[in-house]
Amino acid sequence: MKDCLFCNIARKEEKSTIEYEDGNFVAFHDIHPKAPLHLLIVPRKHIASIDHVEPEDTSLMGELILTAQKVARLRNLKGYKLLINVGREGGQIVDHLHLHLMANL
Ligand code: AMP
Ligand code: ZN
Repeated sequence: MKDCLFCNIARKEEKSTIEYEDGNFVAFHDIHPKAPLHLLIVPRKHIASIDHVEPEDTSLMGELILTAQKVARLRNLKGYKLLINVGREGGQIVDHLHLHLMANL
């Protein structure tokens, strides 16, 4: 999507510090980290939120979790937190589905 911040980050049309990327996902550093390591993992596909996920996205959602696991293993993290905010009332500010990965280093 043209005017979406995280689509633009995934396309590298907007600056970010990318930690990991593959065909379906990009993981980059949150600009206002709330933990010593705070990454955002986004699908390249524009999905506005968990509330917009369709049955056709089932495997993509599983891969999102496996991507978090992969990024954590690459960092040798002993533990981490995963968070998805859904909707304004749920604390979501950017309307492109993203998984927060937070850890102490
Ligand atoms: P949420 O509240 O779940 O929508 O989270 C959005 C997150 O995106 C917040 O933690 C912001 O700090 C982060 N954020 C906003 N703009 C950028 C950006 N340009 N690059 C990296 N992270 C960003
Ligand atoms: Zn988007």
